[in-house]
Amino acid sequence: MSRVMNFNAGPATLPIAALERARDELLDIEGSGMSILEHSHRGKTYDAVHTEALALVRELMAVPDTHDILFMQGGASQQFAVVPMNLLAEGQSADYVLTGSWSKKAFAEAKNVGKARAAANAEKDGKFLHIPGEDELELDSSARYVHITTNNTISGTQYAKLPDTGSVPIVADMSSDIMWRPLDLTNVGIAYAGAQKNIGPSGVALVIINKALIEEGRTDIPAIFRYKTHADKDSLYHTPPTFGIYLMRNVLDLVKKGGGLAAQEKKNREKAAVLYSAIDANPDFYRSSIAKDSRSMMNVVFNLPTPELEAEFVASAAKEGMVGLKGHRSVGGIRASIYNASQLAWVEALAQFMKTFAAGK
Ligand SMILES: *Cc1c(COP(=O)(O)O)cnc(C)c1O
Repeated sequence: MSRVMNFNAGPATLPIAALERARDELLDIEGSGMSILEHSHRGKTYDAVHTEALALVRELMAVPDTHDILFMQGGASQQFAVVPMNLLAEGQSADYVLTGSWSKKAFAEAKNVGKARAAANAEKDGKFLHIPGEDELELDSSARYVHITTNNTISGTQYAKLPDTGSVPIVADMSSDIMWRPLDLTNVGIAYAGAQKNIGPSGVALVIINKALIEEGRTDIPAIFRYKTHADKDSLYHTPPTFGIYLMRNVLDLVKKGGGLAAQEKKNREKAAVLYSAIDANPDFYRSSIAKDSRSMMNVVFNLPTPELEAEFVASAAKEGMVGLKGHRSVGGIRASIYNASQLAWVEALAQFMKTFAAGK
């Protein structure tokens, strides 16, 4: 068996020890004679996994007592609709900060449900190259919430810090940078993320939500979409994505053993610095159009002089065992996704490859 250096944007690389644990337990978990896949979600074997996964999220992210943690299905895209369905009542409006294609999708869903306005739009000539500063935000002080996308997976921008939204709660799509570092959640009304980039496999959406917002949620929507339904039953209202939660538990257990989110941040910053240095060291060949203070620590997006060279770069890198480097089809170029589970050695190998490739042209 040989594993590649996986720079995929999502689903993305997982820590090998989390996969090995799943492999070792796949046919028989804890002497129960069956796989976690075959266990009842009401039984004690699964219950222990579920409870541990919730506790790990709470501990690693230092989730305050004011907030609940939910495991839901439907990915982040379902949350685009579920957030306004729960929170936007007649006569209320929500603010959306548009920083990329995912935030545009979230905004469109909000408008399908109720009233929403753009508090800022970072799009220029079809591109999103920076995170709007607080002076660029036209916030409505009576908005129900302000929606932001903390990391823009496709364009490669990221908030260096959360914006000040006064007394209006932040709702954050953190799909591609959840748990990349410690974060104060006090002013975050809802943080949600599809697990498949930074913390697990696809199929689980993690939602961290202020309990007051759960209680204020609309009751005239289907029960399955109400946050309260899931909160009241500890995310066991119906069958949760048990295997996804199990694998996420394996991942989070490793993050904890590795020193938690402070250690994770240090590692992530180190990896990103290696790649951005490789880009900046050769500005005639590698070009990052992203504003420096908006550069993503998770998705490093850059261009070569021509699309032909970019295609050759991706193909040659794959021959060296580095996969997933092709930029998103909507923006082109190169994208190296370097989430929590990606390794410093891979990033160093990629930086070396960049140097050699440019020198050969
Ligand atoms: C991948 C991604 C999504 C979409 O997630 P799904 O779970 O596929 O719905 C939404 N937002 C961001 C920022 C993403 O990176």
